[in-house]
Amino acid sequence: MSVHSDDDSSLDTGTRICSGKGGCGAAKQRGEFGRRASGLDSVCKECRRRETSAWRRANPDAVRRMNLWRLYRIRADEYDRMRAEQDFRCAACGTHETEIDTPMLGRPRADGHRTPAVPLQVDHCHASGAVRGLLCGRCNRIIGIARAAYHLPSKSRYLT
Ligand SMILES: [Zn+2]
Ligand SMILES: [Zn+2]
Repeated sequence: MSVHSDDDSSLDTGTRICSGKGGCGAAKQRGEFGRRASGLDSVCKECRRRETSAWRRANPDAVRRMNLWRLYRIRADEYDRMRAEQDFRCAACGTHETEIDTPMLGRPRADGHRTPAVPLQVDHCHASGAVRGLLCGRCNRIIGIARAAYHLPSKSRYLT
């Protein structure tokens, strides 16, 4: 095995030992390791994926918080407060969150793990980022289309 320095030109050639915490210890092609700001990851992609999915299974609450923030830029406590204010129902059609189908949120990830569903989606104004309310997936889509088609002011809430 030849020795490679960690400069960028050698990132994709040669092998590297998967030696980080939880790593498999195997010598693998450098392309099998993810990139980090500081260079290549110390653990191979396969081990990193396994570690990430184990963490996600063990921390469903943290995953839910991360999803809410990533998808909607809303904190879990704000989301839960709005859910309670809306009596856990869609703000437009009134369907209770336990009766909402969320197949579209269940797209399996590369590791086969499904993202925990958030039945009530956050309807926010794309211009200001302000949250208008929580909607079931169907209303969120329909109302988004209606707003665009009728040029409704983005501040308008629901047609009730
Ligand atoms: Zn590994
Ligand atoms: Zn609805």
